[in-house]
Amino acid sequence: MNFELSEEQLLIQGMVKEFVAAEVAPIAAEIDRNHRFPAELIPKLAELNLLGVPFPEELGGAGADNVSYIIVLEELARACASTSVIVSAHSSLCTWPIFAFGSDLQKKKYVTDLASGASLGAFALTEPGAGTDAAAGTTTAVLDGDSYVLNGTKTFITNGGFADVYIVTAMTDQAAGTKGISAFIIDKDLPGFTVGEREHKMGIRASSTTPLYFSNCRVPKDALLGQEGKGFKIAMMTLDGGRIGIAAQALGIAQGAIDASVAYAKERVQFGKPIARLQAIQWMIADMVTEVEAARLLVYQAAWRKDAGLSYTREAAIAKLFASEVATRVAGKAIQIHGGVGYTESYPVERAYRDAKICEIYEGTSEVQRMVIAGGALR
Ligand SMILES: Cc1cc2nc3c(=O)[nH]c(=O)nc-3n(C[C@H](O)[C@H](O)[C@H](O)COP(=O)(O)OP(=O)(O)OC[C@H]3O[C@@H](n4cnc5c(N)ncnc54)[C@H](O)[C@@H]3O)c2cc1C
Repeated sequence: MNFELSEEQLLIQGMVKEFVAAEVAPIAAEIDRNHRFPAELIPKLAELNLLGVPFPEELGGAGADNVSYIIVLEELARACASTSVIVSAHSSLCTWPIFAFGSDLQKKKYVTDLASGASLGAFALTEPGAGTDAAAGTTTAVLDGDSYVLNGTKTFITNGGFADVYIVTAMTDQAAGTKGISAFIIDKDLPGFTVGEREHKMGIRASSTTPLYFSNCRVPKDALLGQEGKGFKIAMMTLDGGRIGIAAQALGIAQGAIDASVAYAKERVQFGKPIARLQAIQWMIADMVTEVEAARLLVYQAAWRKDAGLSYTREAAIAKLFASEVATRVAGKAIQIHGGVGYTESYPVERAYRDAKICEIYEGTSEVQRMVIAGGALR
């Protein structure tokens, strides 16, 4: 067993750290405060191939492994969770299913542009009446000649309005339950497809979250991803990988909160000495570091299993459950260490606290992760 990062993984980690320090950290507080999507970062991320980390070079990607990809998401989230989720929704939820299930033509047409960062992706499964119960969606796709006609509403879609390509699930056979759900690759400019108003969110405020509306939206037959009726399976497999990305986001948020707490504890003087010399503060930091190290092992293990071609549904659920709850706890302690200033926008820990919470909710709530884990244990 080897816990060392490879030379390539270390190189990517060093490169993304430099990028984050130069381009992401300086704007993180501002884009959060203004709920501003950081459009200027997209070409910069693309230039470093950070929008296609785990995809082959011949399809426009960086040709790196999933551990490297997870390191990228972690380092981005350490400074800005919004940027991390923009990249992970794009890569894990849009590029990956086309790469995994698309025809050669679809891969050539879409993966190349997505992985190189020439276009941005999104994934639309959730509907107003279908969240955790994702199979309860009512969006329909009816075959009519050479096209499918889509009608329905998706909700809470990350990168909504900024994405060029959307993976969208819809019922092609309403009588067939989950086997009647299909997935489609939808271009942003199709007539009948509109994007609604952005949500005003508690955290990850710089990421865009919108509804999508389909009204007699005609999509060409060849926009079908995989086979008819396989959309639910594609979506569930996509979320397995996506969850490792959200776990990495949580890990980065938690590490960022530790970084800020250590720096503050050394500089803040009370009772004539830095608060870092108080055992109460030291113990909080010790618990934060221990929990984050445990989370990192789980997250990296899940990514490693994906790289090794092993099953990772269970490990992704464990990693996401643990890392996201650790992030919330650690960010809470970080505010405690900062005292009053921790509750203000002058320090990054209140943002970490707000950003951490979403990791317990999207791509399957913590309750869903527990259902997956218990289902495996009790089989
Ligand atoms: C900021 C943001 C970004 C998002 N991005 C995307 C995206 O890009 N694409 C996309 O498709 N979706 C996206 N989502 C949707 C997200 O995945 C869902 O919000 C999430 O899956 C929960 O669904 P829900 O909100 O409908 O909650 P509900 O399903 O209504 O759940 C409410 C509560 O009930 C619990 N619950 C429900 N069923 C069970 C059960 N059987 N057992 C135990 N507890 C249960 C839940 O855990 C939760 O605590 C996003 C959401 C947010 C907030």
